[in-house]
Amino acid sequence: MSEPLTDNHGRVIEYLRVSVTDRCNLRCSYCMPPGGVELYPRCNILRYKDFLRLIKIFAGMGVKKVRITGGEPLVRKGIVSFIRQVRQIDGIEKIAITTNGALLPEFSHSLRKAGVNGVNISLDTLDRKKFTEITGYDELLKVIKGIKAATKAGFDSVKINMVVMKGVNDNEIERFARLTKKMNIQMRFLEFMSATPSAWNEKMFMSADKIRERVSRLGELAPLGKGALSGPAELCKFDGAVGEIGIISAVTKHFCASCNRLRLTSTGGLITCLFDKESADLISLLKIGADDIDIAKTVRRAVKNKNRIRSLPDSSAAEIPERVMRSIGG
Ligand code: SAM
Ligand code: SF4
Repeated sequence: MSEPLTDNHGRVIEYLRVSVTDRCNLRCSYCMPPGGVELYPRCNILRYKDFLRLIKIFAGMGVKKVRITGGEPLVRKGIVSFIRQVRQIDGIEKIAITTNGALLPEFSHSLRKAGVNGVNISLDTLDRKKFTEITGYDELLKVIKGIKAATKAGFDSVKINMVVMKGVNDNEIERFARLTKKMNIQMRFLEFMSATPSAWNEKMFMSADKIRERVSRLGELAPLGKGALSGPAELCKFDGAVGEIGIISAVTKHFCASCNRLRLTSTGGLITCLFDKESADLISLLKIGADDIDIAKTVRRAVKNKNRIRSLPDSSAAEIPERVMRSIGG
């Protein structure tokens, strides 16, 4: 391995999130505007062989964990075979995937076999009607089946991500939290972010502190330590519970000081901070035939300038560029 990938503030970068597509089989109102989204032309989406080449370059600079995301990663053809090839890259120790879960009934087993360690499944409600309202599709039963399949497939971790929206699904916080008492899952509550202005309403925002208060109504929560690559979740557990609770305060308590992640968009853009513009355009380098050394130099330069701290004032309306969620996968 060459020198580790570090920024000007001493952070070592070891985690890359890769969005393999901007396409999705759902239309969550907070992620994709109701009027429809303009998808990138297919010719602008990186081919798997380009992703593999870039991931190899990142691994050569010390990236150890890759998260596959989207859009919905499972709608892209050939995803399992792509992941199998990522698994073979020297230096990649962990592969995780973030999915809406609707295709997990058929994919869980093959993803595990291909070498995926952990699955994050996004699920904001257990109410079928509400699910259809939030996502535009009546797919809750498939997602639940997908969660069951994932818990049986032998992944190291199965996590459920709920974006908490006051007045929409906050009445289900306790119900979701209770699942951890019997199920071996990590239930993660995420603060709602303003990614799609047409869907954003500050009144729907609920802070992590408030979420924690609601969860703790069910019983005492013991804090848990963090693993080296466990990310920004504040982890805790009910006494005697099988599963864990994670509370992610991306808005009210940023985790910039320990941020070790980069994002690669489906169109080859490198994003060093969720709250910043694209830092480098790697697809252009690929198109002009740049060699690996040039690409690595561009990545190092961009990473050096990674924001020390997110560039927005602390506010519940933490806005991120609108393109972000559907093109870079959260
Ligand atoms: N389609 C996959 C899924 O839904 O898990 C992967 C992509 S999705 C963009 C990744 C994550 O971003 C999901 O957990 C989703 O809930 C979250 N997300 C999208 N828009 C968000 C927002 N406005 N605020 C907070 N989280 C958001
Ligand atoms: Fe699709 Fe995920 Fe965005 Fe929902 S959050 S529209 S499932 S990409």
